[in-house]
Amino acid sequence: MLYNTLGKTNLKVSRLGFGTMRLPTKGSNDQIVEEEATEMLTYGIENGINLIDTAYPYHNATLSGSGNSERFLGNFLSENNYRDDIILSTKSPSWAVEKEEDFNRFLDEQLEKLQTDYIDIYLLHSLTVPDWTKVRDLNVLDFLDDCLSSGKVKHVGFSSHIEVDYLIEILDEYPKWEVALTQMNYLDEYYQSGIMGLNYLKELNVGSMIMEPLRGGRLVNNIPEEVKAWWEIAEVKRTPVEWAFQYLWNRDDVDCVLSGMSSMEQVKDNVRIASTEDIINEYDQEIIREVAREYRNSSNGNDCTRCGYCMPCPEGVDIINCLTEYNIAQMMRDPKASAMQYFSLIDEDSRADSCIQCEKCIPFCTQMLNIPEELQKVYEYFGSEFDHF
Ligand code: SF4
Ligand code: SF4
Repeated sequence: MLYNTLGKTNLKVSRLGFGTMRLPTKGSNDQIVEEEATEMLTYGIENGINLIDTAYPYHNATLSGSGNSERFLGNFLSENNYRDDIILSTKSPSWAVEKEEDFNRFLDEQLEKLQTDYIDIYLLHSLTVPDWTKVRDLNVLDFLDDCLSSGKVKHVGFSSHIEVDYLIEILDEYPKWEVALTQMNYLDEYYQSGIMGLNYLKELNVGSMIMEPLRGGRLVNNIPEEVKAWWEIAEVKRTPVEWAFQYLWNRDDVDCVLSGMSSMEQVKDNVRIASTEDIINEYDQEIIREVAREYRNSSNGNDCTRCGYCMPCPEGVDIINCLTEYNIAQMMRDPKASAMQYFSLIDEDSRADSCIQCEKCIPFCTQMLNIPEELQKVYEYFGSEFDHF
């Protein structure tokens, strides 16, 4: 296993972190197959993974509420005496906080589920702009100060899918941020906070953890023939998983890549790749750029460039992200994973089905898109309820 320093935390973290949101399940998402998950985590730890990441809602039957990932992990760490050997990261459910006392209520519940009296890395989970405004007004920064001084939490940070301007705004408001978890892979260099966000984290020496390195498995499943052809002409032969991980680990602004692993086969493969030095040279970078281009060209989506000129919609429709998530779904050809992203990232009132077809946005579109028609396609594709488990 190879290790990096996680920014100003000075923690030496394995460059592969074990995400526990996609553990093997039977029946429904809250039914973790514990024996198999135990073997996977044990193999990972015994082979050098020292950072395990979870969150309050992971492995719930729905997208929010208290999940079973933390509970399972607490039992696993306690029964196997691993707590002091690993860096434990979990997340405060920012969206569920309604009053100031809720921050401590959730943290205490999480400490109990995890059977520990401290969290190494505590992240405000999936901060959106409205959630950030809400928790800031509920004095979340005082809460984080208290967590640090009481020792219940060693390092604080946040996870987010927001655009770079908002990421910078949040980073600039609190000098004690030590870690940020953002989405990154070779398709997302200019999506969400992307490369510019990672550059800013590095400038501040805030540790960078990466989510969606394989886009929920979409960079390695149902690969278009055009993409396969590019991988085949590369001088160094790599599997799609190797390309995706080594692209990230060759970046000097990436400290730890989280992977939500679902099988022992994935754990073994990812550990092997994370333990191998592999230089991505300029020629390889060109291949990766071509692959990204092929993914985009093979899409049947719309031509939205995310310029934002059509916003705000008077009905509150998040036009940009509705069209973007549809494009991603078309490009990756994985309706289930795309739907999870669509329903978790976009608030209920801002989804495509809230469009009343008033057409007020059409004159503003820089790409001449008939936006309500495009939104209708989004609605027909995703529907109005998340029922893709
Ligand atoms: S057509 Fe739909 S998206 Fe456009 S302004 Fe009207 S409600 Fe909003
Ligand atoms: S104006 Fe058109 S291209 Fe720009 S974000 Fe809106 S829909 Fe997309």
